[in-house]
Amino acid sequence: MPNEVKTYSSSPGTETSYPIECDVCGSDNTSPFLTGERFEYVKCRKCGLVYQNPQPSLDDLRKRYARDYFEYEFDNERNFFNLMKLGLKDSGYDQSPGNLPGEGRFLDIGCATGMLLEYMRDKGWSVQGVDLCRESAEYGMEKRKVPIHIGTLESAAFPGNYFSLIHFSHLIEHVPRPSAFLREVKRILIPSGTAIITTPNVDGFQARLFREKWRSAIPDHLYLFSQSTLGRLLLREGFVIEKTVTWGGMAKGTAPSFIKRPMDYLAKKIGFGDVMLFKVHKST
Ligand SMILES: [Zn+2]
Repeated sequence: MPNEVKTYSSSPGTETSYPIECDVCGSDNTSPFLTGERFEYVKCRKCGLVYQNPQPSLDDLRKRYARDYFEYEFDNERNFFNLMKLGLKDSGYDQSPGNLPGEGRFLDIGCATGMLLEYMRDKGWSVQGVDLCRESAEYGMEKRKVPIHIGTLESAAFPGNYFSLIHFSHLIEHVPRPSAFLREVKRILIPSGTAIITTPNVDGFQARLFREKWRSAIPDHLYLFSQSTLGRLLLREGFVIEKTVTWGGMAKGTAPSFIKRPMDYLAKKIGFGDVMLFKVHKST
């Protein structure tokens, strides 16, 4: 079987890990799912959530997002930006906010070097970013003159009912408590507000094929969601799912293009793509 090129991950040093319960249903009844180098995923027997157990403390996790992480974000900012732009376009949000309620306030959580913030600002949105990586955030603020809070979403302490549109791409799988994180997203969204979420799809074709060699099975991904588990969590936290889509059948270089192209098409059509997007509203 070919080896996939893995997504960048920090290399955790000495960390203390703690056992945790399922963040979707609260059960601690799990079965082993994947064991790789420096990570261990379990699957909740009750709801099917795949997560790392045990997990490092937040303080240890914070240390992972330092200089090396900035270099990875910096080297890939154009690629990531293009993918995020496609995601926003797919959701109908790649234009000016017009008369959108909430004064067109846009929040990008895990905004890295701020390229998407700059793009949205230039389209007339009032933008704000959050990133845990100081180096990335400082680069974004200096080079692009966009406001970025350095820290977690919770530490930014935004006002309630504030943002019209909240975007987080490849972020929720890094967050220690996705349920608490989504509750905070809901709190700061205006009543008619929208959130756009992208994350790797553990039910996708590549995850099933590559198992522990899947590019998204890495130490930094604490959760590997499926449409079912993320959907369930979103509903429980009070969101209405407007749309979900998956895309990306085969990673570049794993198949010749005459196979890759139809696979990509099928993956999007049938829902076993490598990455999934959720467009959700705050239910009132
Ligand atoms: Zn569960």
